Amino acid sequence: MALPLANTQAPGVYRLKVGAFEVTVLSDGNLAIDRGLFAGDAAGGDKLLDKAFLPAGPIPTCVNEWLVNTGDKVILVDAGAGSSFAPTLGKMRGNLAVAGVDPQMVDDVVITHMHPDHIPGLLAKDGSMMFPNAVVHVNADEYAFWTSEQNSAKAPDEFKVFFDLAKVAIKPYADAGRMQTLRDGAQFAPGVTAAAAPGHTVGHTMVRVSFGGGELLIWGDIVHCAALQFAEPERAIVFDSDPAMAIANRKKVFDMVASDRLLFAGAHLPFPGVGHAARSGSAYAYVPITHAEHY
Ligand SMILES: [Zn+2]
Repeated sequence: MALPLANTQAPGVYRLKVGAFEVTVLSDGNLAIDRGLFAGDAAGGDKLLDKAFLPAGPIPTCVNEWLVNTGDKVILVDAGAGSSFAPTLGKMRGNLAVAGVDPQMVDDVVITHMHPDHIPGLLAKDGSMMFPNAVVHVNADEYAFWTSEQNSAKAPDEFKVFFDLAKVAIKPYADAGRMQTLRDGAQFAPGVTAAAAPGHTVGHTMVRVSFGGGELLIWGDIVHCAALQFAEPERAIVFDSDPAMAIANRKKVFDMVASDRLLFAGAHLPFPGVGHAARSGSAYAYVPITHAEHY
């Protein structure tokens, strides 16, 4: 029988149980990242990407967000790119609907960092607040950095848009008194806490979910390309504000998740981007979870 092709991917929604909590990974879509944005020798990088069966050319890269449902509270971690950054992104809202969540139900939004693939989705297409009942939490140094006119003025031209998008996205929440700055260790609900891991940006923040025997580290942008950076953690990306610190914290987090056998979730790991890290000499290998594992 002739069946028309769907010509589109199925919704990007993945649920896992973390103790008594439910975490839903929401896809915001994907972005092609130029290979040249990563540090290190190009030939060695190509070899790693080829070994991962990735196509030649730009690296297909997922963008993921997370909804933590504690039973009492709905906490969104990151808001995605919204409609203003790239046409292949901004799918989070549709996936939220597929997950059965109205944006009005969201109590808190934690922003891992204010880059344009993580924060513009705070706004609806008309510029109003997408999550009108939520308090938005951003690391204090991160907020100060991206809202500084001086920093924006001295940024290279291609990065000015990062400042513009960040400022526009946070403003309605700040104006409405719905923005709170956070420090390392801040608690959003019992068992949901902030863990600083700066370097990629000045206030890059992870979220640790630890409740009822379940553990998940939502690590934001510790990794931008699994095929390159687990094997060679020194391969920084050009968007790191402090590459040396980003590398040091990547290594520290890898060491922790490998030693503690801690489950993690990453913004740019292939959807749903949840797994473990296995130590392999001085490097690591990414071991994604299976679909059946957590439900
Ligand atoms: Zn990112």
